[in-house]
Amino acid sequence: MKETRNGHGDTLVCATAADGRIRCMAAVTTDIVAEAARRHRTSHTVSAALGRTLTGTLLLGAGQKEFDRLTVQIECDGPVGGITAETNARGQVRGYVRNPEADAPLNAAGKFDVGAVVGGGMFYVTYESGFRIGLYREPYRGAVPIASGEIGEDFAYYLAKSEQIPSAVALGVLVRARESGETFVEAAGGLMIQVMPGADSATVAAVERAVSHNPHTTTLIREGARPVDMLRSALGDVPFEVLEEREVGFACTCSYERAASLVSSIEAGELEAMLREDRGAALTCHFCNETYRIDEPSLAGMVEKSRNGRA
Ligand code: ZN
Repeated sequence: MKETRNGHGDTLVCATAADGRIRCMAAVTTDIVAEAARRHRTSHTVSAALGRTLTGTLLLGAGQKEFDRLTVQIECDGPVGGITAETNARGQVRGYVRNPEADAPLNAAGKFDVGAVVGGGMFYVTYESGFRIGLYREPYRGAVPIASGEIGEDFAYYLAKSEQIPSAVALGVLVRARESGETFVEAAGGLMIQVMPGADSATVAAVERAVSHNPHTTTLIREGARPVDMLRSALGDVPFEVLEEREVGFACTCSYERAASLVSSIEAGELEAMLREDRGAALTCHFCNETYRIDEPSLAGMVEKSRNGRA
């Protein structure tokens, strides 16, 4: 995995506190968000919106063991139009937005106005499982209205309403512009603290107090904080035990082979038209914006196969 400037790749930590009644996850996702912004050429505000969604999806997945694929979909009426992020149990994440170039003026605090580019709508979470054992179980799907469009609050609202898990969620992306106008992700990451049933109210109050006094996530990351440091800062005096630390990264499942197989399944007449008019085919993956070009000889081969198959 690629190393960041301070010598660490993106990582995620899962921890537990209060005899397992509090689940905590924290992640540094600077490389992931930079990669997503570069691939999708997102505006500053959309980089923040997509980056927060990718980070929140990773953290949500880290708190759950029983899934193969977790998808967060934000269907919204703001200029970004929609955000989709998907993660697997191995800590790989990918995602995209409908309108990468959408933007909004800075908010009253002089920050990128993520809430304004998102607007109102619905927040969907889908857990799919059973892929590896060949038993595709009925997916679990939860939906709540968008709370603020600031993403962190939306994850917290979803957890409280749909999974009945009161949570504190902080997601941050620090985006800068180079002189060329190009977006530069300086720091990204987040944390998620989930209160499970049975936690005593004194612990919950201590966690709430500590989290509300916690410095901004991206400030800590920019200063070199690792996920464990972020949890220590957020939890204050509440002791916690680290269960797992793992590498996380932006990864997509697309490939030339998959693109070619998709094109070869197109009906023969249409393939012939593509060969005649475009002398090839091009397919772009939504999730990572990679374009696969099927050249003229390969496409001609597919037409041939398709004709033979039909005869
Ligand atoms: Zn892809």
